[in-house]
Amino acid sequence: MPKLLPFAIGALAVALILSGYLGYQWRTTFTALESTKAELASTTSASQIALKNAAQDNAQLAEALAEQKRVNDEFGGKIADISGTVGKLDKLAKTDPELLQKYSKVYFLNENYIPESLIKIPEEWSYGAQEEYFHGKIWPELLDMLKDAKEDGVDLEIISGYRSFGKQAQLKASYKVIYGAGANAFSADQGYSEHQLGTAVDFTTPALGQNFTAIDTTEAYAWLTDHAHRYGFILSYPKGNTYYQYEPWHWRYVGRDLAEDLDDDGKYFYDLDQRKIDEYLISFYD
Ligand SMILES: [Zn+2]
Repeated sequence: MPKLLPFAIGALAVALILSGYLGYQWRTTFTALESTKAELASTTSASQIALKNAAQDNAQLAEALAEQKRVNDEFGGKIADISGTVGKLDKLAKTDPELLQKYSKVYFLNENYIPESLIKIPEEWSYGAQEEYFHGKIWPELLDMLKDAKEDGVDLEIISGYRSFGKQAQLKASYKVIYGAGANAFSADQGYSEHQLGTAVDFTTPALGQNFTAIDTTEAYAWLTDHAHRYGFILSYPKGNTYYQYEPWHWRYVGRDLAEDLDDDGKYFYDLDQRKIDEYLISFYD
């Protein structure tokens, strides 16, 4: 038995040394693990901060981009506005403002006024094949109307188109010779006539002939009342107007836009303020 004692002591010593070593090993590993954990934690929070900063930068960039886009759009819009305005001004500058002025006993047209273009109305459309003239740029509208009326079985003839200041003076004088002061009932004084514009016509029919003042009893007048506005024509002097006598035969071109609006609103040209009428000058030829 005593023989075994040194061996037991030796084994105990070995066990002690071994456990001490293992303990040291464990502690070392544990410490390393702890520091790795701490390192990892600090790295993670640094990444999070970096990520957050990047996201913030992105948002700022996106905002700047949106702002730039807004500025660009606004600029583009302004350019479009400007070129639109220039186009409108150009169109307006090319449209004779007299074409939408009121002329009557009250409103006067300069004696030197001559329409910018005049064409001779083809004989087929003028009463008794007499020589009549009309505004060249608006003739296609009038021709459309005459043709469509004919298709509907309504024969319109032009008994009077453009009249110069001189011709109007002459006409009035000749009417006065025949009718005396009664001529005032159906013939305007020179300078007060819409006929000097070249955009007004007096209609008759083959059946009425010279007796055109009775046109409001005909189907032709009913047709004009229903359709003329679609071609830009209006009745200038309706029954009961305060500017002039009733002239059911006398129709004037004022542009489709204005004629349609007048028809929609049940109003007449002379009812409107000149300022309101002038707003339609831009669409006169549309
Ligand atoms: Zn007339």
